[in-house]
Amino acid sequence: MRSPITALSLAREECRAQAAGEPAQPVRDMIAAQEAAALFLRALGLNCEQEATLGTPGRMARAFAELMTPRPFEVTTFENDENYTQLVLVRGVPFASLCEHHALPFVGTADVGYLPAGRIVGLSKLARVVELFARRPQVQERMTQQIADWLQKALEPAGVGVLVRAEHFCMSLRGVQVTGASTITSALHGQLLDDGRARDEFLALTRTGREA
Ligand code: ZN
Repeated sequence: MRSPITALSLAREECRAQAAGEPAQPVRDMIAAQEAAALFLRALGLNCEQEATLGTPGRMARAFAELMTPRPFEVTTFENDENYTQLVLVRGVPFASLCEHHALPFVGTADVGYLPAGRIVGLSKLARVVELFARRPQVQERMTQQIADWLQKALEPAGVGVLVRAEHFCMSLRGVQVTGASTITSALHGQLLDDGRARDEFLALTRTGREA
């Protein structure tokens, strides 16, 4: 079976990260990861010699690598020709990330908004930015801030608002075992931070239809 983490996708990711001024993804040794997964599972008592579990270490290594690898994408921004200066908000962008403390997933949705100034960005790219920062070992607070900072840098808009809701498996499946509890984090810049009315509008729109 071919690994989804191909050399090509790694090379493209490194080029993209370099262009964006971010540290490149580390090059991964998938054979070492598979061997380590086999040792890890065996140490915890899983017999990987049976037909059904023979491929488990490899699948586990590839699954974790996938959770740490965003798909490469081109960021295209456009002149704000229409002079649209009201809020642009994409709600409910789903993501899966990996808690860096437990190496367990946390999953949820992000609401990503900005008040345009000179430049705008394709709406689908807002979802890709969420994936860019989700697909790596993370903490939710940092991920939220990184998405907002990225938009601030790329668009230099009048304001940025990011709100992330997530369920952490390290909280719901183990430890306190609070299934269904969600953690909310937000990062605001510019007018969405400083202007009370703009901030209230953003926060109200992220809540509309979700009162529960
Ligand atoms: Zn955790």
